[in-house]
Amino acid sequence: MNPIDLRHAPVLVVGAGIMGAGIAQVAAQAGHAVQLFDTREGAAAEAKAKLAATLDGLVAKGKLAPDAAAAAVARITPIAALEEARGAALVVEAVVERLDVKRTLFKQLETLVGERCVLATNTSSISVTAIANGLAQPGRLVGMHFFNPVPLMKLVEVVSGLQTDPAVAEAIFELARAWSKTPVHAKSTPGFIVNRIARPYYAETLALLLEQAAEPQVIDACLKAAGFRMGPCELIDLIGHDTNFAVTQSVYEANFFDKRYQPSLVQREMVDGGLLGRKSGRGFYRYGEGVKPPALPVAVHAAPATAHEVTVHGDGPLADALEAAATRALAGQGWGPARDRESAWTGLRVDGARLVLTDGRTAQQVSAAMGVADVAVFDRPLGLPLQPGTALAYAVAPQAGESWRTQAAAWLAALGFAPLPLADTPGLVVARTVAMLVNEAADAVLQGVCTPEGADAAMKLGVNYPAGPFEWLAHWSAGGVIGVLEALDLHYRGERYRVSPWLRRRA
Ligand code: NAD
Repeated sequence: MNPIDLRHAPVLVVGAGIMGAGIAQVAAQAGHAVQLFDTREGAAAEAKAKLAATLDGLVAKGKLAPDAAAAAVARITPIAALEEARGAALVVEAVVERLDVKRTLFKQLETLVGERCVLATNTSSISVTAIANGLAQPGRLVGMHFFNPVPLMKLVEVVSGLQTDPAVAEAIFELARAWSKTPVHAKSTPGFIVNRIARPYYAETLALLLEQAAEPQVIDACLKAAGFRMGPCELIDLIGHDTNFAVTQSVYEANFFDKRYQPSLVQREMVDGGLLGRKSGRGFYRYGEGVKPPALPVAVHAAPATAHEVTVHGDGPLADALEAAATRALAGQGWGPARDRESAWTGLRVDGARLVLTDGRTAQQVSAAMGVADVAVFDRPLGLPLQPGTALAYAVAPQAGESWRTQAAAWLAALGFAPLPLADTPGLVVARTVAMLVNEAADAVLQGVCTPEGADAAMKLGVNYPAGPFEWLAHWSAGGVIGVLEALDLHYRGERYRVSPWLRRRA
């Protein structure tokens, strides 16, 4: 049994801002006596009053019993000086995100609290190892990284620095569980799990925007169709471009300017211009009263999907789903598609033309390799069974004939998709983004930052992804993901799309 049990520990929360107030609420609702301290006079008392109002609101909605709310509020004591917190068995720090401030605070706390008191930091980007440097007992410092809003978000990253005592990390892990959270162990590395693995979700979109491959609303529609709750553009607008850019920059710098994490010119320009998203009234989109969201470009599929011969190529569940869709599409005409399971590619052969599931290559490259002019590539549908009306990006080879340009979209529409045209870029939107998310997660596992299960839980709970990177991988294949990454690497060169050795081992 772990010698450290924090489940009944008196807790000191330092910093009564957004995060500190949330942490105090969760701890108090879990039955802990909580002291709350902030250097700004009156801030702790204000936070307590606000929290009492929030809990009253929950009572009014019938979501919380009145005595439970009253008891939780009564457990919180704002204090005016840190010296009053000598009896704390756990400190959770949520002060300003500055290494010098956090170090000084923990050093001071070490002179006040008992030897066995555990010190936890809610830092979102500073190395836990660095914060512990200079402490008398660096082993008792651990990261306890909550997500905003704390009472609602289930994920807690339990971050171990080089000197963190495993028993301390385990005690925080168990405590987070007792607080009805889902804890995940992480090693102290830039961005920990979520803020690191999520980088490509923004970066690949910014790369597509930089080369004018599509409008923000098209990219958002494609990724939402793949199950993401918000598209990257609307999500960055919500987070704020300044905040998103700062996180990207800090991960980039912390990785010694590894090109994989390089920030985007598109975003720098927006930040410099004050186009920060919702909070400034304009980001990728415009906000304000009476402003309508931009309409999606309606896919061109005026021509009926006509053909004499249709063959579904490829094996596996996705090819099966395409066959079922093609069978439905052709049923009215009284015939059905043929099937070639041995084919090297997945998609539809429509008379002499080909509609090919992206393997990362551009339509132009696929067309050249096949020696066929009429080629279009389409994006990877993530969820099966296919949902009718799912937005899906496609690109037509520049050498294709005029009639195939409309027929390619018409066939995708006949299969049940809402086809959205994209410039002929490698990996389109979903395949490219998901391949890069999987690659980043694979590198995190390679470097011992987390386990595959930890990465999946973190991404689903920390940023609401519809599935974890390793769940996507299980439904795709290491070879398929590597194919997309290598096509991207070949197209753009440079370090950004290098394949994780972890994935290579899997292939
Ligand atoms: P905030 O600005 O809302 O609150 C910080 C509070 O700390 C302020 O009330 C400030 O007066 C107080 N403070 C500053 N220095 C202090 C000191 N030396 N001693 C005591 N109090 C002090 O900030 P926040 O958003 O709550 O973030 C706090 C921490 O949590 C940061 O490390 C941040 O990176 C991290 N974090 C934030 C989020 C988020 O979404 N806001 C998410 C996860 C982690």
